[in-house]
Amino acid sequence: MAKIRLYIDHPLVAGQPVPLDPGQAHYLSSVMRLRVGDRIRVFNGQDGEWLADLEQVSKRGGSVLPVEQSGPQVSPPDLWLVFAPIKKARTDFIVEKAAEMGAARIKPVQTGHTNADRIRQDRLQAHAIEAAEQCGGTFVPTVDDLTPLSRLLQGWDPERRILWADEALAGPAQTLAGLATGPWAILIGPEGGFSDTERSQLRQLPFVTPVSLGPRILRADTAAVAALALWQAALGDWRQD
Ligand code: SAM
Repeated sequence: MAKIRLYIDHPLVAGQPVPLDPGQAHYLSSVMRLRVGDRIRVFNGQDGEWLADLEQVSKRGGSVLPVEQSGPQVSPPDLWLVFAPIKKARTDFIVEKAAEMGAARIKPVQTGHTNADRIRQDRLQAHAIEAAEQCGGTFVPTVDDLTPLSRLLQGWDPERRILWADEALAGPAQTLAGLATGPWAILIGPEGGFSDTERSQLRQLPFVTPVSLGPRILRADTAAVAALALWQAALGDWRQD
């Protein structure tokens, strides 16, 4: 059974060669020691998972030949993760875990207490791709560039509800079971929490639901994973009814 999985940003059609970029060619030939004719699994975020044979490979690139579809396209529920970036390794962790946990879109936001004033969107997108490759997913969430939270909220579509992880509510954890289904976003603050201005703005928005994540104050990366798990279990694709 082919174990190596690669995300390839091209249509997948049986018998139509798909190019590999130099990084992928290097990984397959030099790191994994694959040879022409070896089989891998590929996905592009739209066409499900395919078995594909290595057709050519050199230091500069190569190609694979899709043979047959081995799994359906499975897209996650319509859940975004909106979070304030923290230190680099922890931000990488948040993006990786959000992709594994089934966030459909990842939106870094700058808040009053966010230390970062820029992010490497391309690097974070690459982390989301790697996470999808290793977790068996066929979907890769888009990671957006950094946006000020205030601007994001001004243009927000009220049909998409926001689950606001509010550290001021730390206490008994809440069940999300009664919440409406439909598009949602989880909002996680930075190490310094939300500012007073942000809190009063969020409290006034009818599409925002504040929520406690239990009695302890969690680090932002832990809070992101905990909130994603709660939402997936109550309203998403972990739900058992
Ligand atoms: N500095 C803040 C404080 O001392 O209150 C803590 C911020 S916490 C490290 C980072 C983010 O994780 C918060 O803004 C919130 O979104 C989320 N968070 C952490 N623990 C939480 C809890 N028990 N309930 C709700 N949200 C929580």
